Amino acid sequence: MTMTIYADNAATTKPSQAAIDAMLTCLREQYGNPSSLYTLGQQAKEILEQAREDIAAVINAKPGEIIFTSGGSEADNQAIRSCAELGKKAGKTHIISTAFEHHAVLHTLQKLEREGFTVTLLDVHEDGLIRPEELEAAIREDTCLVTIMFANNEIGTVQPIRELGAICRCHGVLFHTDAVQATGHLPIDVVADNIDLLSASAHKFHGPKGIGFLYAKKGVRLTNLIEGGAQERGKRAGTENVPAIAGMAAALRESAAHMSENTAHVTVLRNRLIEGLSEIPHAALNGDPEKRLPGNVNFCFEGIEGESLLLLLDDRGISASSGSACTSGSLDPSHVLLAIGRVHDVAHGSLRLTIGEDATAEEIEYIIQSVKDVVSYLRSISPIWRDLTAGKKNFIL
Ligand SMILES: *Cc1c(COP(=O)(O)O)cnc(C)c1O
Repeated sequence: MTMTIYADNAATTKPSQAAIDAMLTCLREQYGNPSSLYTLGQQAKEILEQAREDIAAVINAKPGEIIFTSGGSEADNQAIRSCAELGKKAGKTHIISTAFEHHAVLHTLQKLEREGFTVTLLDVHEDGLIRPEELEAAIREDTCLVTIMFANNEIGTVQPIRELGAICRCHGVLFHTDAVQATGHLPIDVVADNIDLLSASAHKFHGPKGIGFLYAKKGVRLTNLIEGGAQERGKRAGTENVPAIAGMAAALRESAAHMSENTAHVTVLRNRLIEGLSEIPHAALNGDPEKRLPGNVNFCFEGIEGESLLLLLDDRGISASSGSACTSGSLDPSHVLLAIGRVHDVAHGSLRLTIGEDATAEEIEYIIQSVKDVVSYLRSISPIWRDLTAGKKNFIL
């Protein structure tokens, strides 16, 4: 028996019916340009502003603090660029982040380094967590920004954001968080959590692709990446993608409304999946077993290649990932797994399964059995595994 199971929700999620309905209505009927003054335009404008209000409410922000972007990557770029520019004006050119951020953050920081900024990347401990005291120790007189992700996209670990934000507040440093994996899945309150800027992306919470938002606390002046018209208060030129924005708001409203029951359901399945895969010898869970996203499971299996594992799981109807969608296709091991101290050989044999709200207990059992079978098969034909079992090489896990 073969099942079809989508277990790569960290890469993207299936759009919800509510998101699709909102988008279709928009495409068919409310196709006006929100900047136009006649009724059709103003109807589109209303949808836009209602979406902004609804999204703001979910994270306890004000509507005026939300701007729409093309997704998480753009929001990360704009947040970091804006803070860098503000810092530069004040003579502050030091930025703190971590070694396991998304590339939208890391590559922006590398670019800023070439422009004269200094970047400190905090160590990520073996459990996939940042230590608040290490953040505090890294803050300098000239620090203008701290950017730390809310939840990691590969290993799912959730940072003590409120505590990290409080430290930044205390030192008068702006705090940005890439909350792309957390939004719609974990409770977020930008006020209580001491967040100054936050990035999110609709396609990670059952909305459409190519749309996201940036929250920037009132008073934080944004730099625009795109010059042109006066849309989004002059901070993001270009006619707004109204259907996508409507779909994003519908998806987020729904995710927020069902968050606690979704979390309860998915957490039980995730824990069973971790328990089942832990029975495989010479395997290890990556990241803290509890301080992680409800649906995230990430393992390393010694003696195999993650890529072959994925292909064989695909044959059994399971869509999974070896790390992030962005790094697959490259032969380099995941920078996230290296950051938590996995050595190259072990990091190559990684598997990320990110389960959705509609997953069932039966599917989880099927995944466990499939992974067990495929890992055994791959080990049976692996020269590395032969060396390990013959004692020519030492096991690491
Ligand atoms: C997916 C993702 C992004 C990028 O978002 P896009 O909307 O695809 O640009 C950024 N950060 C994290 C943590 C992500 O998971």
